[in-house]
Amino acid sequence: MASTIYLVIPCYNEEEVLPETSKRLKIKINGLIEAGTISPDSRILFVDDGSKDRTWDMISYLHSIDSIFSGLKLSRNRGHQNALLAGLMTVKDLCDAAISLDADLQDDVEVIDRFIENFHDGCDVVYGVRRERKTDSFFKRTTAVGFYRFMQAMGVDIVFNHADYRLMSKRALEALSGYREVNLFLRGMVPLIGFKSSVVEYDRAERFAGESKYPLKKMLSFAADGITSFSVKPLRLITVFGSVVTFLAVLALIYALVAAIIGTDIGMFALAASIWLLAGVQLICLGIIGSYIGRIYSEVKQRPRFIIEKLLNKR
Ligand code: UDP
Ligand code: MG
Repeated sequence: MASTIYLVIPCYNEEEVLPETSKRLKIKINGLIEAGTISPDSRILFVDDGSKDRTWDMISYLHSIDSIFSGLKLSRNRGHQNALLAGLMTVKDLCDAAISLDADLQDDVEVIDRFIENFHDGCDVVYGVRRERKTDSFFKRTTAVGFYRFMQAMGVDIVFNHADYRLMSKRALEALSGYREVNLFLRGMVPLIGFKSSVVEYDRAERFAGESKYPLKKMLSFAADGITSFSVKPLRLITVFGSVVTFLAVLALIYALVAAIIGTDIGMFALAASIWLLAGVQLICLGIIGSYIGRIYSEVKQRPRFIIEKLLNKR
């Protein structure tokens, strides 16, 4: 039987792009249904993330004229990640797999075919990965590449150049629902789920209308969320830094002691070195406290400790 696929599209003030986006996605999905690749129960779900413009009116209109369109309205603006999760959790019991994408269709919809192929080949997660970033501005490109590198250096397992364009199977969605954290960074959480996954490359286009809903300020807080939600490395760095300072200060104090013994006048040097020594010790203490906070922080997130992929059991 052909599988039921839901497209999940978070929308925030997207009245300018919705007419075109809905048209293109409808052609895509109808094509796949006619080819028998996916079931006629497949849907295109727009999630209205508390838009202030006519986004919701347009979604409900689309739904009223064509049942291929579904709509989900959040009570207020909760941000892209929350809106996406709301959509995914709503469709997980209705579909065999869900594909998330942005309303501006910067992600090439033609690769949906390959997403579904890989899904039919047994992949539970298919990551859409941007081949290059020619269409992004120099600033967006360098900050984005820097962001991925920094995340990897901080020990967060993320797929390079993958945003939130991905397919997730029903059981991957089920597993995702076990992650109870409030600070969402989906592209860091999905790799934690495991299961068989694959990567599909595509070229990213420019936004065809409207402007980015991710200004620099939102981008920075998103990056900070990504790091602090996945890594206790910054806490560990405090300890390392403190140890280095302490070590240097001890060397300086030994030098001061030797100088005092042989009678050289080094003025305030010993005093400065002892201040540094204390600062170093304090940093180490902070780091130790930090490592406990790190534990507490992993505990309060109540993430699932494991996700079972298969059970072989004869009775
Ligand atoms: N978005 C959302 N809520 C927000 C901000 C953005 O649902 O608070 C949606 C937006 O409508 C779009 C997607 O998230 O579908 C990505 O936003 P955008 O294309 O503006 O980001 P960019 O591609 O510039 O990073
Ligand atoms: Mg965009």
